[in-house]
Order: sequence, then structure tokens, then C-alpha cells
Amino acid sequence: MSEERNPFVIAQNRVKKAAAALGLDAATTELLCSPQREVAVALPVKMDDGTTKVFQGFRVQYNTARGPAKGGIRWFPTETIDTVRALACWMTWKAAVVDIPLGGGKGGVICDPKSLSETEKERLARAYIRAVGPVLGITKDVPAPDVYTNGQIMAWMMDEFEKMTMECHPGVITGKPIAIGGSQGRGDATARGGIYATRECAKAYGIDLKGQTCAVQGFGNAGQFAATLAEEILGMKVVAVSDSRGGVYNPEGMSAKELVEYKKANGSLAGFPGAKEITNEELIATKVCVLFPAALENTITEANASKVDAQIVCELANGPTTPEADVILDAKGIHVIPDYLANAGGVTVSYFEQCQNAQNYYWELEDVQKRLDQKMTNAFKAVYEMSEEKKTSLREAAYLVAIKRVADAMKLRGWC
Ligand code: NAD
Repeated sequence: MSEERNPFVIAQNRVKKAAAALGLDAATTELLCSPQREVAVALPVKMDDGTTKVFQGFRVQYNTARGPAKGGIRWFPTETIDTVRALACWMTWKAAVVDIPLGGGKGGVICDPKSLSETEKERLARAYIRAVGPVLGITKDVPAPDVYTNGQIMAWMMDEFEKMTMECHPGVITGKPIAIGGSQGRGDATARGGIYATRECAKAYGIDLKGQTCAVQGFGNAGQFAATLAEEILGMKVVAVSDSRGGVYNPEGMSAKELVEYKKANGSLAGFPGAKEITNEELIATKVCVLFPAALENTITEANASKVDAQIVCELANGPTTPEADVILDAKGIHVIPDYLANAGGVTVSYFEQCQNAQNYYWELEDVQKRLDQKMTNAFKAVYEMSEEKKTSLREAAYLVAIKRVADAMKLRGWC
């Protein structure tokens, strides 16, 4: 992979830029650019046909100055150590920007999950924990689901860890099913956090959201809840939504609940009653108050950024805006709530799950939602204040807030 396309080099360059703006010294910057600990493992797994296959896995604990590492485990055919490093690095800033007392981590296994049976997945999950288990635990590193891993896989992983230690450790992993220590409110946490951040963003810039329009690109977990909660919490009208097969538009607004039900019943949004069909490119260019990109990375690019006609872009997806597009949105005066602030509701409720597991006492849904609101509100305010003080975009400000918090913790510990 070329240097300029290597995700870890890109992540390091962002850190260097923020470190320079904060006036951090060379050693602090170098440490912020270096994973603290990495474990690479080879995992022999018995396949259903009796053969043994060896999978390569990783766990990266990027920085634990603010607390135990936290980050998902991805199962992906093209996983590399540098993707895992980049994501672990990014998790460090994400936990710091919402001010939860955790560091950043990430794990990965190179595999094609679609070709694995359920029993092979279980053996792979258990093999991974047997190999990396010694560096995990509530005081060390707490994984969670990510691409192609889910609650069931977390349940097998927790169980294997408990077998190894001969103790109950529900908090060793989050994203578990509720019946074995998962948290209420995890399902819509990412979208809900983004909605709270949008509300605060509108307040900060004097925008009244009630009765205003929004568009949602990507109608999966994050997108469906975003549409529903934009209506429910912000009183907005959903005028455009899309998925990978195209989108629908109705300037009068569409019921989020009906859209969700329609997609469930028909597998796509095409033919939604009363709406006009539009392409994804048309959705991006729709005039709305808030645009929620909730699909994939690199959706808003140099080619279409000038057409974005929104006052706020709330990045629920990871990396939906390319750096070139970011400059264009900024010049147009669009307020972009950056991905790792906008979608931090998920990791925040994962942290709440850890807290509940540690207490062995479980919170009501309202408590989870109230605390999430508090965290997201405070996080947005800190980023907004930094952006006003330094006269930067919200994205630059989010990096400054997060990296300063980690650097301050490292200094207090005497690391540099
Ligand atoms: P998902 O798979 O449930 O949904 C993705 C949606 O995007 C699907 O509706 C799909 O049809 C649509 N899509 C794919 N390609 C598209 C295209 N070209 N144009 C329009 N729509 C397209 O995924 P999700 O969990 O909702 O995640 C969406 C994004 O949010 C990802 O970037 C993910 O990393 C990010 N995110 C999700 C969570 C979470 O808790 N779900 C947490 C943090 C970040």
C-alpha cells in the first residue's frame, strides 16, 4: 500500500497537524503517533470438514493514558495491521472527545465471515480470545462488535474469557445481548447521540430545527433510527432517504415509521407511496436543513460537495466526507458535525454497559438516554467552544479537544 493511502499514515498525519496547533513537544507527538501495545496471533481453527485453517489476528491498544483500551473487533478479508492501528488510534480520540475514561483499541481477524458456518465462527471467536485474552479485561482492554461481528460473537468471546479465568467477567466485552449483561438503549445509541449533537449544533448557531427538513443517506441501523429520532426528538420533517438501491423524496415529509416498515416489507425504498424516486446524488444535493450521511465512507467528495445544500451535516457514517470535500463544505459555511463526535453515542453506551457490568446493577432505559444526552451535549459544547476560540471548523476543533485531553493525561502520568 502506498504511503499516502495507508490509513495509519493518514491518521498519524492528522495527529501531527493537531499536535503542532497545540504546540506539543516532539516526544509527546511521537507517542501520540505510536501504538502503545500490539499483539499479533495465529489462530488454528478446526473447520466443519475436519481440516484445520490458520487465521491471522491482531489486537492493538493504541493509548491507555485516559483509561483501559476500548474498541471493536472486525472480521474482514482485507484486514491489515495498519487498518487496525488506524482504527485504534481513531478510537482514542473518539473516547476522549466524549470524555469517557477510556483509551483506544481495536482488533481484527483476517477472514471471510460470509464463508464461515456458525460453528466455525464460534470456534474462531473462542480461538481469538484464547490467544489475546491475557491482554484483555476491565482494567486493560474491553472489545466490542464491529464489522461482521455481533452480539452472539461477543457472547461466545465473553464465555471463553470466563472459562479461562474461572470467574464471571461480563464487563470484559460490550455489545452483548441484554440477557447476558448488555445495556438498554444500545440499539439506537449511535443515531440518538448524533441527534443530540445536531440539537446542540443548531442551538449554538441559532438554527430552529422544529418543522425544518432533513435527508438521510443510508437506511440501515444508523439511518433508520436517525430518521425516526429526527422526527421524534427534533420535530423535523424527513423529506429524502436513500439506500444502496436509490432513494425517495417528498417535500411535504414522509413518516419515518412508515419508511422503516416499507423498507422492511419490500427490501428497498422504491415505490414508497406519495414519493418521487431520486438517486443518491440527488439526495446529497437536496435542499434541507440537516443532511445525515449514514451509509459509507467517501460519499461527499470534491465532485458533489459544492451541491450540498444543507445548514448542518451530521456525519453518522465513518469518514463520509473526503478531505477535499471538507474544505468546500467549510467554505460554504456548512456546519459539519465530524464523524467521531457525531457517531460517538455507540461507544458511549458501550461504556455505560461496562459501568453497569462493573456494578452488577442495571440501569433503566431512561437513565441510559439521559446520561447519553449529557455526554453528547457536553462533548458538542467543548468542541464548539474550541472552534470559536481557535477559529477552526468543528472537525479541526474536535481533534484539538481530543488530542489535548490525551496529551494532558500523558503529561500528568509523567510519560513525556
Ligand atoms: P448498515 O449496514 O445497517 O446500513 C448501511 C446502509 O447504507 C444500508 O441501508 C445500505 O443500503 C446503505 N448504503 C450502502 N451503500 C449506499 C450508497 N452508495 N448510497 C446510499 N446508501 C447506501 O450500517 P450501519 O450500522 O447503519 O452503519 C452505517 C455507517 O455508520 C457506517 O459508516 C458505520 O461505520 C457508521 N457507524 C455505525 C454505528 C452503529 O452503531 N451502527 C456506530 C458508529 C458508526
